[in-house]
Amino acid sequence: MPGDEFTNVTVLGLGGLLGFQRAVHQSVAQGNAVALAAVDTACSHMVENVYLLKLSGRQKFYLAVTLAASATIVALGVVLEPKNKPRAEHHFTVDMTIREIAPGLKVTGQALAREFGLSTDVPKNKPVSQLGVVQDQLDNSIAHLLSHRSTLLKYYVFAALVLFGLVFLVRLGRPDNASLSERRARYPRALYVLTLLVSVAVCGFALGKSPNPMEAAVKVLKAMAGLYPSVAAKLAALGFFLILTIIGDKLICGWACPLGAIQELIYTIPVLRRLKRWTIPFWMSNAIRGGMFVMMLLLLFGIVVGKKGFVLYHGLNAFNLFDLEFDTPLILATVIVTLALSLFLYRPFCHLICPFGLVSWLVAWLSLARVRIDRMKCNKCGACVQACPSEAAKGIVEGKVFRADCFSCARCLNVCPQDSIWYGVALRATPSEEKPELDRAPG
Ligand code: SF4
Ligand code: SF4
Repeated sequence: MPGDEFTNVTVLGLGGLLGFQRAVHQSVAQGNAVALAAVDTACSHMVENVYLLKLSGRQKFYLAVTLAASATIVALGVVLEPKNKPRAEHHFTVDMTIREIAPGLKVTGQALAREFGLSTDVPKNKPVSQLGVVQDQLDNSIAHLLSHRSTLLKYYVFAALVLFGLVFLVRLGRPDNASLSERRARYPRALYVLTLLVSVAVCGFALGKSPNPMEAAVKVLKAMAGLYPSVAAKLAALGFFLILTIIGDKLICGWACPLGAIQELIYTIPVLRRLKRWTIPFWMSNAIRGGMFVMMLLLLFGIVVGKKGFVLYHGLNAFNLFDLEFDTPLILATVIVTLALSLFLYRPFCHLICPFGLVSWLVAWLSLARVRIDRMKCNKCGACVQACPSEAAKGIVEGKVFRADCFSCARCLNVCPQDSIWYGVALRATPSEEKPELDRAPG
């Protein structure tokens, strides 16, 4: 049984630690009682704080099953990944028309015209050379369009990371055998950081920028504007990411999106601590993010400026980092500024620019699993609010439905002296959690 195997590994680890303790005992066995006591204390402390040792047998079983399920999901993705890439199958020349080239790239004629920098209503049945397109330009446009081709495997990796995040937050983060006084050992950051590193390495640099949640949101709008042949196909991709948002509060953003992960990792670097205390008020960052979304719609549908098909987010697409593709100085600047700001500002791209950040914020109130508070136990000490890098915990404590984005980062979950905050599914909420705002005064 996987749980037994896991127990064996854990016991081996504990055995090694205690063996180390015995060896040190022998080496100082000449009677240095102070040294012995120090070693004892250090070793006991280590043993007490080893998160894995505090997991119950049932939790170890959950962990083993979750890891096995995540690995199976990824393996399935590897098996199902189409082997034939379209890149090598086509040879396009400037003697061909837009109508002939576009289907091979699975875009509409309007999208291809936009890609060439032409108006969307240029004739689609003339050779593109007669529209002023030269071969280099054609090759670059094709390379750009093909770079947006989705890797099917990445959807599976996203799902596996979200599954692991969900089970960790709901079932594994609070070891059954850790008391309230050991709450600091809960939700170990190392596991979170490790997951983020996998996201950046695999969902980012290894598999490239596409697909990603931001692109999924933008492509639906582009399809509605006629730049992709099928709105339904693009909606399906966005639906996938929204389901991962609703399963657990923005888990796709908090645990799997590589751009979110790289911002989170940079923010974790312990520098500029004073600046980290400063946050942009959520109403302001959300207004900027929303304003940009509205501007995108106005430009895309040609309601302002009059040239239909302009995609505002193309110039601000920091996901290009993962293809090391910086077509314009604006894209490069967006990447550099995002990474630099992340040193002291929590997820600047997510809060200020990302359209999926906005859309997922709108549906996050539907989340089945999320940070929950037992209002009968909460004395409003503010520990979770202090621990949260945004205004999300404040909104949760105040019981707001639409509060700042919570990225399920778990920072707030091991600081509560009342043990009144946890991560759980809605169906498991305690009755007191649902009570209206404080019916007893603090203190
Ligand atoms: S909001 Fe952030 S984490 Fe979520 S999709 Fe956008 S960049 Fe990724
Ligand atoms: S610290 Fe803030 S963002 Fe992180 S899980 Fe808690 S409420 Fe959400």
